[in-house]
Parts: sequence; structure tokens; C-alpha cells
Amino acid sequence: MQAIDHPENSEQYIGLTVNSGVSQPPSVNPYMTRRKRKPMPTVSEMVEGILKGDVTLLSRAVTLVESLSPEHQALAQEVIEKCLPYSGNSRRIGITGVPGAGKSTSIDVFGLHVLRNGGKLAVLAIDPSSERTKGSILGDKTRMEKLSVHPSAFIRPSPSAGSLGGVARKTRETIVLCEAAGYNNIFVETVGVGQSETAVHSMVDFFLLIQLAGTGDELQGIKRGIMEMADGIVINKADGDNIDRARLAQAQFRSALMLFPKAASGWSPEVLTYSGYFELGIPEVWDMIDRYFDFVMANGYFEQKRSEQARYWMYETINEQLRANFYNNPDIARMLAEGEERVLTNRQTSFAAARQVLDHYFSAR
Ligand code: GDP
Repeated sequence: MQAIDHPENSEQYIGLTVNSGVSQPPSVNPYMTRRKRKPMPTVSEMVEGILKGDVTLLSRAVTLVESLSPEHQALAQEVIEKCLPYSGNSRRIGITGVPGAGKSTSIDVFGLHVLRNGGKLAVLAIDPSSERTKGSILGDKTRMEKLSVHPSAFIRPSPSAGSLGGVARKTRETIVLCEAAGYNNIFVETVGVGQSETAVHSMVDFFLLIQLAGTGDELQGIKRGIMEMADGIVINKADGDNIDRARLAQAQFRSALMLFPKAASGWSPEVLTYSGYFELGIPEVWDMIDRYFDFVMANGYFEQKRSEQARYWMYETINEQLRANFYNNPDIARMLAEGEERVLTNRQTSFAAARQVLDHYFSAR
């Protein structure tokens, strides 16, 4: 190495030589070529892969379902249509509960319980707020530690963008793809705080409400509608000091349910206590769900409900697409802004403003 012209190379610093530095190698690896995105598989490749249970192709198809691009949407619809004849063969279970109720802990142990007898499980989610939280609230893999590494489990967070109706439709379509891929157990998780329960209820066979024992006023703050939808109410965290309180809550829920009219299924919803964390009472919860399925299979309600749901989703999809077509139209967006301005300054009534925009929309058809 060469000594350079440097103050410390002067005579007075005998024994010290300052050499020129080594030039730094480039920080970018020159051998690394830019990773190319794999080309989009064709519709038939995707369908074949899904039917074989190929998780990569299933995931890619789900990504298409979730995509906002019209081109992807068209492809997704083709895939779904081809998978439809192979779908339907599963138990679809909705699981709801307020944040902190223990949904992810419970889904982890319920899931393992279900998979003990073989089969496959897909865990999907509906969380219309996930646009804000980037999908981290629901379906986040790290929340279900055991299931996320189970080879027979497929966990997919909530589709993130769009209205509740849109998010729910995508989850509904994902169910079709998962079933075609051989997933014979589907869990659909949702936060029990809003309207997403109604959407989940319209795509599952059994609706499980996870509750917590509180301070004696358990029934407060639970929307009556959610309780009415539940086929089973389970009180979590029945462990340690909490067991007595959980039993008390169980009694309160049972008597509250008695005041409700009989469900269309003919099934009387049950109330159980369990502990997801300590894995207590899990077989009992599952035994209840098994009994429900036996019951509705025998009385024909299972098929009836699925047909009603199919009809519901036909109209839901029409409503959603009509709304999107209307609101995404730039002319309409401009007219709406102007109309709103007139209404807010009392220059036009709400009805007249609405009429004006709608007339324009329909006359342009
Ligand atoms: P989520 O928000 O509904 O998904 O709830 P989590 O599964 O994340 O649980 C919320 C908190 O409750 C976590 O700290 C869990 O460890 C705790 N937890 C969940 N299940 C139980 C249980 O059965 N017993 C007790 N004691 N704690 C639990």
C-alpha cells in the first residue's frame, strides 16, 4: 500500500504511516438480477392448481379476487365460476367477538382441534376497518401461532380495500376457491363491533359468538341483533378466578336467550364456558357445533339456508356493482359535489338534488 501526502506522514511522526484507504466495493450485489414477478398463470392453470390443492396458486387467485383492477376482476370471476362446481363441501363457521375476547387464541385451538381428525382448514376474515390498520387486526398470521405453521391450515387476512359489502363479497368468493382446493372447514372471523356480523352471518352455516364474563352487566352493550344471530354463545377465559364469573354470565345469557323467538333453524342456541388459553372445554364447544350440523342436516335447514345465502349474494353483488358504477362515474361525482353544495346552502331540497343527479345518470344509459 502506498503512503500518501498526509500531515501525519511528516518526519516528526516516525513509525506512523498513513496509507491510502481501500476503495469500497459497491454496496449493490452486481450478481443479483432484479427478481422478476412470475408471469400471471392462465385461468386454467389456476383452476387446475386450486383443484390439486396448490396453495401458491390458491393464494394468487385470492389476490386476483381482492384486486381492484377490472382486468384482474374479470380473470377472478372466470376462476371462481370454474371452481364453483367443486365448492360447497365444507362447514362454514363464523366467529365473532369484541377485540380482546380471545378470538385469535381460540381460533388457534379450535383449529387444531378440528384438524386432529384430518381435513383442512381455511381461516378468513372480514374487517372493513383494515384499510386503516393495513389488515393487521384480523387474520394476521402471527396471531395464530400454531395454526400458521400447520400444513393443513390456510390463513388469509381480511381483504383490505373497499366498503363492507365489497370486502364481504371478496371473502365470500374466497370461500368458493378454498372449498375447491379441498378446505372442508372454513372459519370466518370478524370483530364483533359493527355491521360485519350481518355480512358474516350471510355466508356461514354456524355463527359462534365469543363473550367474556364481565362485572355483572354482560348483557349490556351487546347488540340484541348479534345475539339473535348466534347459534352458539361461548364465554371465554373461564379459568382461574374467573370461573365463577363465567358461570354466572352463562346463566345470564341462557335466560336472556329464552326471551328470544325460536330461530328459523329450529335449533336452540346453547351457551357454554371454556378457556382458549388453557385449552379447557374445547371438545365440548366442538361437540355443540357437531350437534348443530347433525340437526340442520336432518331437518333440511342446512340446504335451505345455503340457497337463501346464494340468492342474497346475487342481489348483494348487483347492489354493490350498481353503486360502484354510479359513484365512480366522474360526471356523477362532479354533480354530487355541486348538488351537495346547493343542499347545504338551502338552495335546493335533498330530494330535488338527488332527482337531478339520478335523472342525469339514467338518461345517459
Ligand atoms: P382477539 O382480539 O379477540 O383476537 O383476542 P386475543 O386472542 O388476541 O386475546 C386477547 C388477550 O386475552 C390475550 O392477551 C390473550 O392471551 C388473552 N386470552 C385469550 N384467551 C384467554 C383465556 O382463555 N384465558 C385467559 N386468561 N386469557 C385469555
